[in-house]
Amino acid sequence: MFETPTFSFKRPFDMKDRCEHCGLNYMPEPGFYYGAMFISYIFMGWFCIGFVALFHWVFGWSTEASFLLLIAVCAFFFVYIFRLARSIWINLNVKYDPSKKISG
Ligand SMILES: [Zn+2]
Repeated sequence: MFETPTFSFKRPFDMKDRCEHCGLNYMPEPGFYYGAMFISYIFMGWFCIGFVALFHWVFGWSTEASFLLLIAVCAFFFVYIFRLARSIWINLNVKYDPSKKISG
């Protein structure tokens, strides 16, 4: 779906126009990925709560240290979360069909 590998921070948001396998249009309409924001928001909300709770209560870190580590982890995984949310979103909207293939 994307131009560069997952953990590449070079042009992290560039997407291909079409699927190389089946020719699916990755941008069927403007704002198509608006819904992906809610997926990443819900995911990150629970992830952040769980992350800080784990480090604070289980490992006994201070609240400040737990949040600092959380910010660092979020900054590092931001591209991955962004892409994951878009992938989940397009999978909710388009049924995957392995038999659909561009000949040649
Ligand atoms: Zn495809």
